[in-house]
Amino acid sequence: MSPVLSLARPDILQLQPYQHATWDPSLERMHANEMPWRAQGDNTDAGLNRYPEPQPRALVERMARLYGVPASRCLVGRGSDEAIDLLVRAFCRAGTDRVVICPPTFGFYKVAARIQGAEVVEVPLLDALYALDPDAVIAAGRRAKIVFLCSPNNPTGNLLDERAMLSICSALASHALVCVDEAYIEFASRASLTSRLDELPNLVVLRTLSKAYALAGARCGTLIASEEIVDLLRRIIPPYAIPSSTVEQVLQLTEAPQRAISAERIRTVLAERSRMRSRLEASRAVVRVLPSDANFLLVQCRDAARFLEVGKSVGLLVRDFSSAPRLAGCLRISVGTPEQNERLLDAVERS
Ligand code: PMP
Repeated sequence: MSPVLSLARPDILQLQPYQHATWDPSLERMHANEMPWRAQGDNTDAGLNRYPEPQPRALVERMARLYGVPASRCLVGRGSDEAIDLLVRAFCRAGTDRVVICPPTFGFYKVAARIQGAEVVEVPLLDALYALDPDAVIAAGRRAKIVFLCSPNNPTGNLLDERAMLSICSALASHALVCVDEAYIEFASRASLTSRLDELPNLVVLRTLSKAYALAGARCGTLIASEEIVDLLRRIIPPYAIPSSTVEQVLQLTEAPQRAISAERIRTVLAERSRMRSRLEASRAVVRVLPSDANFLLVQCRDAARFLEVGKSVGLLVRDFSSAPRLAGCLRISVGTPEQNERLLDAVERS
């Protein structure tokens, strides 16, 4: 067994997976207890009376092309949230195993681990710029099963140092998976770590259509890892996880014309991000704005409650992190349309 697979829960390695109804589109289906007719008004291609294909091949291949990796290395799930949940369930024994997180960071790593009964070890990001502490992560990772790194990090917006992430991954090769969550990488000035998967069998990369591709409601995330990890997770993903209507929509909405529009909108977001940053930095209401490689800005305010109220007074909601550890006074503002951004900036400047 490959060293990386030996990190998985022994009972999951031995699990007899659920047997899906055979997928054979060349035959008529009388084997899955479905209705033979469509619901009135169902005009999907596949027919919602039919169970979808488990890990739909066309969708997996589309994601593989989008992310420039082989399809055999992709597991598609309901958002990257599902991938996080599956990883923790496959690798962490309740009451025994640990995950490492680097707060302040995306909240679901901790919640998923707790749901599974795994211990959560926190190795905080360092200093005012929230940098990775590689030595401390390696030390904690030697006693853990999964290290979650988020780059660009939510909610701080910064990329983590690439050399530090790679050295963590190599140092933990026979100890833990290193899951690099790249939900916001399309907004960053750096390429994905997927190009390093061949040399780093314990590296897992998460990508999502929820941000740059404007498809959060479709719930479509991709875990990219070694074939062994992908095969293992395929065994535990719930049966027929991806609805056929989602498959059809995602295939339509990630064609070349939509991708070109996404690329153009990303450029708009980047321009707006830098415009907002300068205007906010110049505002009396703001202490500092963190540099961001994502589609949001973390803003430390003189009075976060007042800033929130000012936003609401012009119909805009931003996210309050002011009572979270190490984020005193901080709000996270997602870059909106130029009109929304201007409305917020104008209200803050007038307040
Ligand atoms: N990772 C990060 C860093 C996120 O910020 C989010 C969503 N806010 C997710 C994962 C989950 O994304 P998805 O919609 O793909 O489940």
